[in-house]
Amino acid sequence: MPALSWRHHTLIQALLSRGPLPEADFKSIFHVVTEKSPAAHQQLFNEFLRKINAELAYVQFELRACKNQYDGSVYYGVVNNVSDDQSKLGTKYSVPQIAFYKAMIEAIVQDGAEGSISKIQAINIRLENQVLNDSSSQSQTESTQVPAAFRNFSMSQKEKTIEELVRDSWLCLTSDGKVGLGVRSFLDLRSWFRSNEVPSCQFCNEAAVKVESCPNSNCNVRIHKYCLTMKFSQRKAEKVCPGCRTDWPFILAKVEKVEEEDQVPRKKGRRTYQEVGTDNPRTTASQNTANSPPRLTRRSSRLQSAS
Ligand SMILES: [Zn+2]
Ligand SMILES: [Zn+2]
Repeated sequence: MPALSWRHHTLIQALLSRGPLPEADFKSIFHVVTEKSPAAHQQLFNEFLRKINAELAYVQFELRACKNQYDGSVYYGVVNNVSDDQSKLGTKYSVPQIAFYKAMIEAIVQDGAEGSISKIQAINIRLENQVLNDSSSQSQTESTQVPAAFRNFSMSQKEKTIEELVRDSWLCLTSDGKVGLGVRSFLDLRSWFRSNEVPSCQFCNEAAVKVESCPNSNCNVRIHKYCLTMKFSQRKAEKVCPGCRTDWPFILAKVEKVEEEDQVPRKKGRRTYQEVGTDNPRTTASQNTANSPPRLTRRSSRLQSAS
């Protein structure tokens, strides 16, 4: 197998050093290092990712794309496929912090369609319960052996941990100030979602964290807003649940909230409802925004001038 070139290395380095990158940023780096537009050279782009992944697989890493479920934007990142939390969160977080992160993820996912919990809810999570849950197969007598670090994990430590996890994109703050999953978690937790039987979206089959539920309360179909937008904005699309055929009232206007602007700062101005309606559904939904050539960001042009 031919070794990776400096071009591949630059892409990997950018993702490792700057964390998950929005699609436009990642593709503009690709554009700079290959001097080819990923929109016009989709095959080359895919080939690059395939080759990078063939090498990363040796160290159980993977370059992957995911969607931020709160706004549907696509991110690229490198994830560690070794499945213990310690290696995922690295050495940066302490054991109680990691336990607190896990407990918040569980609460956020349990919450169902909302995909978020309030800060108060988060801070009130008891790590003692976390230990009990983890060792539920063991005898009751052991339940008293809650590590002191867990017992003494204070509210302010929890608050500080939330801030740090948000900064590192493991968590996010939603537009209404709640705690949700960060892009890094969406990238990283794919197998955890599966093994914890988190329901998946009827259309894209990815974990249904932030979703719309079927209006029929007896039906458990869940669909991401951006998947609904893509399906229902197609001409002739029946606006019914794909599971139970109940009418699914869906107004495109409802899909777009200010939160999108918060999380995608590179977009200027608020999109109007009309723009949403006239969006090419393929552009919004696929991981390939082939219609818009990648812009050179200031960062990537610096990168260019440095090379
Ligand atoms: Zn979906
Ligand atoms: Zn249904």
